[in-house]
Amino acid sequence: MLFEDLSLSKSIQKAVYEEGYTNPTPIQEQAIPLILAGNDVIGCAQTGTGKTAAFAIPIIHQLHRIVGSSKKPKVIRTLVVTPTRELAVQIGQSFETYAKYTNLTQLTIFGGVSQNPQVDTLKKGIDILIATPGRLLDLHKQGFIDLDHLHNLVLDEADQMLDMGFVNDVKKIVKLTPKNRQTLFFSATMPIAIRELAEMFLTNPEMVTV
Ligand code: AMP
Repeated sequence: MLFEDLSLSKSIQKAVYEEGYTNPTPIQEQAIPLILAGNDVIGCAQTGTGKTAAFAIPIIHQLHRIVGSSKKPKVIRTLVVTPTRELAVQIGQSFETYAKYTNLTQLTIFGGVSQNPQVDTLKKGIDILIATPGRLLDLHKQGFIDLDHLHNLVLDEADQMLDMGFVNDVKKIVKLTPKNRQTLFFSATMPIAIRELAEMFLTNPEMVTV
């Protein structure tokens, strides 16, 4: 399969080709059509399989169609929650790369640094927010984050979030999002505790394993 077979908008195809990708990886080949069709998806995949692009590319495609070149104030439409600052930064860079020929804007937030620059960007309005759980809840509590207009929620590295003790934070975050959202849930392993968590958060999910 080629990327051009996935019916992605030209602006995304261009960015993907510039990265040197010609063929989707197995997780991308399976997950991208399911996500474009609006399904909730559980992806069992390790880092290195191309899983970031597997969720970022179809999300950017959806948002690009919704937002287009609209001049309306921006609202957060996609939230990606991931356990560590390093992962958050990597995911943010991936969104930036694949969305470079769109008008979509994004912000990556994490703890351990001043919140002021993060808050300044949130006030301007963004389409996509990538966050670690603690800073997300903190800024939400202070009234800087509105998740009422969310389309897509991505829970990345779910098993690592559980191991790091973020399960209650993640439950709180999911409660802040609209019920009719699309939820994408990625984990390198699928022990029972993770499957139970997925069942709690997802509706009729499709399962993708590589
Ligand atoms: P990830 O599993 O998301 O951490 O991605 C691992 C690496 O694979 C990243 O450096 C991506 O830039 C790269 N990558 C993702 N998708 C593709 C693809 N379809 N073709 C070639 N490289 C890719």
